[in-house]
Amino acid sequence: MTTPPVFRFAPSPNGFLHLGHARSALLNFDLARKTGGRFLLRIEDIDTTRCRPDYEAAIYEDLAWLGITWEQPVRRQSEHLALYGEALSRLAGEGLLYPAYESRADIAQLVREKEEAGVWPRDPDGAPIYPGTARHWSRVEREARMQSGAPYALRLDMTSALARTGALTWTEQGEGPNGEAGKVVARPEQWGDVILARKETPTSYHLSVVVDDALQGVTHVVRGQDLFWATAVHRLLQGLLGLPEPAYRHHSLLMDESGHKLSKSTHSTALRALRAGGVTPDEVRRLTSLDIF
Ligand code: GLU
Repeated sequence: MTTPPVFRFAPSPNGFLHLGHARSALLNFDLARKTGGRFLLRIEDIDTTRCRPDYEAAIYEDLAWLGITWEQPVRRQSEHLALYGEALSRLAGEGLLYPAYESRADIAQLVREKEEAGVWPRDPDGAPIYPGTARHWSRVEREARMQSGAPYALRLDMTSALARTGALTWTEQGEGPNGEAGKVVARPEQWGDVILARKETPTSYHLSVVVDDALQGVTHVVRGQDLFWATAVHRLLQGLLGLPEPAYRHHSLLMDESGHKLSKSTHSTALRALRAGGVTPDEVRRLTSLDIF
């Protein structure tokens, strides 16, 4: 007997779901139904400063209103920090992580200095890649800084990590922002030495998403195109941690009339605002199939 495909919708409870989320959730739910697969809901709430229980409650309410049903229990990432910590320790044990102490302001200053001397590379989201020197510190220097109790970020040594895995690809069943499809070459180096954890949170979006997708047996990752390039980092972590490779399907993002992607701060497209205005779940389905709201 073949095992059924497993889909998931993985929102962060840091705002109300909008039409863009509805597109993702409905696509995953419909694909699971069409293929005789399973549909999971996962709450990505590792950022305790921005996630709130009322937003989580609203996610359940809005999805149920749309007619979506999901398996119980729902996995909440904040309840599994120790597990992500184990994956982190494995990477640390292989010498692939290093602590970096620059604050966001320090990094902005370093980037300004670099940019005075020429162009400094930016990651696919437009943020400058890490310009610091902490990767080259000796063990003694690292330990001395750790002892001082200062806040730090644990960064992945991208060059060493790539040397470990070699070239990586993924299977794209949807489409990237420039029409990429089929076998896509992963280029995690475009992100530089990404942060995988911070002193106060032993994980990050990248780390917990790959650990959970593997643990929950997710076979198909279906999500918005804004995460298309992040897939390269996910493939790298899967390679380093020996985790299976799911298929990926990135869908286009819903835009507002001015060509911006919908955001949690645009209240007019929040599902609950639409519901309060008398929009029905069927109309939401129709709206999510358009490209512009
Ligand atoms: N939690 C992420 C978000 O809300 C989505 C993660 C994913 O689908 O991989 O943007």
